[in-house]
Amino acid sequence: MQGPNEEFMKVAVAEAIKGVNEGDGGPFGAVVVKDGKIVAKGHNMVIGNHDATAHAEVTAIRNACDALGTHDLSGCQLYTSCYPCPMCMGACLWARLNAIYFAATSTDAANADFDDSHFHEFVKNPITNEGRIWEQLKIDAYLAPFDEWKRKSDKVPY
Ligand SMILES: [Zn+2]
Repeated sequence: MQGPNEEFMKVAVAEAIKGVNEGDGGPFGAVVVKDGKIVAKGHNMVIGNHDATAHAEVTAIRNACDALGTHDLSGCQLYTSCYPCPMCMGACLWARLNAIYFAATSTDAANADFDDSHFHEFVKNPITNEGRIWEQLKIDAYLAPFDEWKRKSDKVPY
C-alpha cells in the first residue's frame, strides 16, 4: 500500500471549511480513498441535520459505503481533518478501514472549543459518575437477539 497523500488531506480540510461556511456544523471534514481515488467526502453536519452522530468521519464513511455499495471498506483509507473522537474511531473499526490519517490533533480541536478528551477518558474507563449513569439492566430475554442471530441460516456475518 502507498503511504499517505497530502492532496487527499487538502480535500479533507477544504471539506471542513465548506461545512463551516455552509453552516452545517463543526469544523471537521473527511474523505475516503480507494485505489488512489477519492470515493466519498463528508463534513460535520450535526447542526444542519439535527444529528449528534453526523460527524465528518461518520458522514464520509456512510457516503463511501453508499457509493461502493458495501458496508465493508477494507482496502480504503480515511483522511480526516482532525483526530477522530471515540465514536468515529469505532466507525473506522467497524468499516474495516485499513488506514486513518488525521491532520489536527485533539489539542488543536480543544483550542477551538471542541474538547473530546473527556470522551476518550470515559471510553478507557466507562463508569457511572455524577454526570451520567452507565449500568447493565438485564431482563429475562436479554440474550434472545443473539439466540435469534445464531439460529438465522441466511445471515451475513461481518
Ligand atoms: Zn467524531
